Amino acid sequence: MRNADRRTVIAGLGAGLALAAGNACAAPRGRKIGYAIVGLGSYAELIMSKFAECEQSRLVALVSGTPDKLKRFGEKYGIPESHRYSYQTFDRIRDNPDIDVVYVILPNSMHAEYTVRAAQAGKHVMCEKPMAVSAAECRTMIEACRKAGRKLMIGYRSRFEPYNRLAIDLAKKGFVGPTQIITADHGFNARPNQWRLDRALSGGGSLMDIGIYSLNAVRYLTGEEPVEVSAVESTDRNDPRFRTVEDRISFLMRFPSGIETTCVSSYSSNHNMYRVTGTEGWIQLEPATSYEGQKMWIRRDGRTEERQVPAGKGQHAGQLDHLAECIRNDTKPLVGGEEGLADMRLIEAIYRSAREGRRISLT
Ligand code: NDP
Repeated sequence: MRNADRRTVIAGLGAGLALAAGNACAAPRGRKIGYAIVGLGSYAELIMSKFAECEQSRLVALVSGTPDKLKRFGEKYGIPESHRYSYQTFDRIRDNPDIDVVYVILPNSMHAEYTVRAAQAGKHVMCEKPMAVSAAECRTMIEACRKAGRKLMIGYRSRFEPYNRLAIDLAKKGFVGPTQIITADHGFNARPNQWRLDRALSGGGSLMDIGIYSLNAVRYLTGEEPVEVSAVESTDRNDPRFRTVEDRISFLMRFPSGIETTCVSSYSSNHNMYRVTGTEGWIQLEPATSYEGQKMWIRRDGRTEERQVPAGKGQHAGQLDHLAECIRNDTKPLVGGEEGLADMRLIEAIYRSAREGRRISLT
């Protein structure tokens, strides 16, 4: 969709939502919650395979700009042609009662538009991280879903991952003493020629894509919102990958209780870890937020031990079924739109700090 059309969609929100509100989408009893996936790229391919592990969710529809993918994935997952859509026919999902949720797995700059259109069509929304490319877009998305009376959840899958859940619990209980410092590093070596490196589609570089895991982790591990942030960016602009987006950005944040966090976000080095350090020791996860294979070490009383957590439901199925439960029980998702907005406001502050070369107060 062109920008002009996109503005029309957002401007037309009121009328569309009024229609959607009358088109009540009651939580269906006796059947699984039906998901439509929008954007059949690499992460969507993984998500589609995870419905097999779900107890309360099922894949019922596909939206893609690539007819071959609609055919291939449609056949693989038994999605009839009547439930396959293009971006042009997307709004017809309104007439498909099998679809309860639209899961937006598109490039970041398309999240707001498809969330709003899904809400206008009377559907609940699961939207991938980062929620959008600006805090203003996040607010529009929240408002669209609120007006339509539909749930909005962001794909922060780590909140459904057992090692991360244990780390949150241990940090909260002060298992290694009250938390003092958290370090969190996330990065990978980005391959060239992809939408992630095109600011118009990604909204930014490593911070939007992978550094957001460090940012979100320090927020869920502290249970607090930072009061101050300072950041330094380091990007080789001669590297053709980084013409429009940043490579590395390091940021420090101070939290109300005095906790300090140091985070790295990178598109040229490989990291996936965090460490919560308290007065009596530390808790480390590495990898921390990967799709699988999390490992945890705890240092306490002068000893370091690996801690194993029994494999439970996978984080992806956990995430999909959580929204299904929220729809059935009319409860708030653990990671709703406000969570995505909180990260996006901080991302904007981090970029601003790096750009202006000064600390940004968030109070
Ligand atoms: P991909 O590039 O693999 O897929 C994106 C898909 O979006 C494309 O395959 C295409 O699907 C569709 N699309 C529509 N318009 C465009 C366009 N102009 N340029 C490129 N693609 C377009 O990306 P990912 O699957 O890796 O990422 C998608 C989203 O998921 C991002 O927001 C990302 O941050 C998030 N993500 C989240 C992860 C997590 O662990 N939570 C992991 C990986 C990604 P089609 O051909 O069907 O139209």
